[in-house]
Amino acid sequence: MMKPKDRPTFKPSLKVKTWNPEIETAFFEKWQEEGIFKFDEKSEKPTFSIDTPPPYVNTPIHIGQAYTYVWMDIFARYKRMTGHIVLFPIGLDKNGLPVEVQTERIYNISMHETPREEFIEKCKAILKESGDRSLDAFKLLGLSCNSWSLEHHIGGRYETDDPEYRRLTQETFIRFWNMGLIYEDEKTTNYCPVCGTTISDAEVEYEEEETDLNYVRFKVQETVEDVIIATTRPELLCSCRTVIFNPDDERYQHLDGKHAIVPIFGHAVEIQHHPYAKPDFGSGLVMMCSFGDYGDVWILRELNIDPIYAIDQKGRMNENAGIYNGLTVEEARDRIVEDLKSQGLIVKAEKIRQRRPICWRSKNAIEFVPMKEFYLKQVEFKDEILRIADRMEFFAPESKQILLDWINSVGIDWVISRRRYYGTEVPLWYCKGCGHIYVPELGRYYQPWREKPLIDKCPECGSIEFHGEERTFDTWFDSATSEVYILGYLWNKSFFEQNFPCGLRPQGKEIVRNWLYFTLLKSFLLFKAAPFQNAWIHMHVVDEQGRKISKSVPETWIDPREVITRFGSEAFRIWSGLEGNITRGDIRCSFERIKGTSKFLTKLWNIARFISSFPQVSENYELATLDKMILANLNELIGECRRGYEEMNAFSAASAIRTFTWNMFADHYIEAVKSRAYNRGGIFSTRLQRGAWYTLHLCLEMILKLLAPIVPFITEALWLELYQKESIHIQSFPEENPEWKSETAKLVPKLIEFDNAIWRYKKNEGSSLSQELAVQIYAPPELKPLAEDLEAMHRIKNLIFGNPKSGQNVEKLAEDIFVGKLA
Ligand SMILES: [Zn+2]
Ligand SMILES: [Zn+2]
Repeated sequence: MMKPKDRPTFKPSLKVKTWNPEIETAFFEKWQEEGIFKFDEKSEKPTFSIDTPPPYVNTPIHIGQAYTYVWMDIFARYKRMTGHIVLFPIGLDKNGLPVEVQTERIYNISMHETPREEFIEKCKAILKESGDRSLDAFKLLGLSCNSWSLEHHIGGRYETDDPEYRRLTQETFIRFWNMGLIYEDEKTTNYCPVCGTTISDAEVEYEEEETDLNYVRFKVQETVEDVIIATTRPELLCSCRTVIFNPDDERYQHLDGKHAIVPIFGHAVEIQHHPYAKPDFGSGLVMMCSFGDYGDVWILRELNIDPIYAIDQKGRMNENAGIYNGLTVEEARDRIVEDLKSQGLIVKAEKIRQRRPICWRSKNAIEFVPMKEFYLKQVEFKDEILRIADRMEFFAPESKQILLDWINSVGIDWVISRRRYYGTEVPLWYCKGCGHIYVPELGRYYQPWREKPLIDKCPECGSIEFHGEERTFDTWFDSATSEVYILGYLWNKSFFEQNFPCGLRPQGKEIVRNWLYFTLLKSFLLFKAAPFQNAWIHMHVVDEQGRKISKSVPETWIDPREVITRFGSEAFRIWSGLEGNITRGDIRCSFERIKGTSKFLTKLWNIARFISSFPQVSENYELATLDKMILANLNELIGECRRGYEEMNAFSAASAIRTFTWNMFADHYIEAVKSRAYNRGGIFSTRLQRGAWYTLHLCLEMILKLLAPIVPFITEALWLELYQKESIHIQSFPEENPEWKSETAKLVPKLIEFDNAIWRYKKNEGSSLSQELAVQIYAPPELKPLAEDLEAMHRIKNLIFGNPKSGQNVEKLAEDIFVGKLA
């Protein structure tokens, strides 16, 4: 044993006293320089590919996106540390309506009245700026994406309006065309008058609204009796084509086959029975118009009745509406109600709530109009799509049902063409001589509205005049091949074949019916396979009151950039890990919560700084039972973290690490081992003192590695400072060690209880925690192996294991813990 004057004094080698978020950027840049996240397609390691959602870039990244991208980054970093080469590209979605609307607003122009070329250039300028803003936000969050520059190779950043990306979209269309899966048809489709385009069922949302149910008087032609028909859309009277009642409704059996005269317009329509009519809705008689809702669309189609369209593509009444021609739908409704009232034809009106279909982007009511559009077949493949959906694993498993329900509800083929400018062009030309449709070869990106076709003359009639198609695709038609694009389908077919299906699709629940479903559909049609091995479906980040976070509701708005400026990215990331599992439910967010959870970073820094006082040793040490206990505990933690990360549950890993690090390792182990690590009185052997040093460093190293996927900056800072010069992010993730497993793990709760009892006792006695305890202390016998450390920690002179004998003057502190009373 060393004499006191020979003993070293211990000072932290970690000089910086607190975690400083300002160094995050420097680490981020260092990682880029070292290229540690670059994707190497020749790597021998197994690939794990993540089809990162390309955010639409017209608005700044919101807090919910920031949260979910952090989780995706956690998955990527964990996979990297467990021996995978991780394909984690960043993409930006730029196609489609939002930027067109923004361009119209900013420049005060109308798309259809602006030369297409000019309009597209204006869109591009806006997209460039907002795209850069999104990328900056992702960089601040520390995402470990493969590359931040737009590159045409695997792992490169991609953008959906890039000619290469659009080439892929067009290639899928041409393949489908050649397979006979595309057809053009004039059908009644969902039409958004604000967006000026056809939209698919997957783009329709529903909104509860209060509306008037008007009871309107009709005359029966044959019997001249009055009947009452309730409707929420009286402006469609002109397009009424039939009146139905339920076959079980006794009130109207005598009207079957007779005719109703439509008020104001005066035409007669047949009255017939149909189960779609509900006897308890309104009067039980329902007028079927073309088209007020989906029911109208289906029934008229089923009864084979030609529609009379009353609404045009701008959402105004057309010439079929007679005197209401030119009015908007709302104006026409108000006017016709007035007219009916003045003629005594409205017997009553009642307020009802109904679900009305709205456009998911512009949020206004959609209409049903006839449009000639391209369709991709899907209805006939539903059973097969359901079958391949079974090959994907879902996190959480329940979220799979959202997809299955949607597939089951699909009733019409996918309308894929749109009448917009900023999108991928439908690659077709039409011969002006004979109408022959020219479908180009694969291999390049085509813009038929500005280019001539690659053939000189029509193969059918020899004409040299062609008309280029002007329509674009539904942007989901682009997005639904993101996994094909990132896996290098265009550039490295053998890599694609080896690595398809993609490892993971992370995405929000609200786009299961379009992004996930359409990807599944296209993957089925192209490859007869499921596109992903796993799908991680997340819920939302909401404010403290559970409200949706939205820029238009300022009191809910939390800007991630402000969070990062105030607290650092790491504070945001640890909050993202610790605040709950977003796979299972919505997550509540506020500045206070983020600030609160970030205290763990301070704690971690303090722990590391304390441990940095002691040398790192790898030999000549002996582990005390206390050391074995914490290693057994650590071993359990490693298992728990691996399970959490494997199940894409960063929350369970993060909270297990925090509980271990703070509530066990710091509060109890470090407190107990301090005396031995310093060994100021020289009461411990050098080998046991070195055992303390060994265990402290080993635990810290493991904690840093376990936490590295969640908080990459602070763990890297501590790792480089204390351990190795090579980034923590390319280290192997800790594995459970059978040698650390031991029964001593069971001592943990006993130890915690004992420590708490003694601290409480000292506090009640008014003595300091470091004050010597001269009285007898009775401890549970199981703790005997920790005797030396416990005596030193609490400075107990007289520690007895076992209960006091009866008659002894003691005070009970807790179960099996007593303190002797001075006589
Ligand atoms: Zn719209
Ligand atoms: Zn021709």
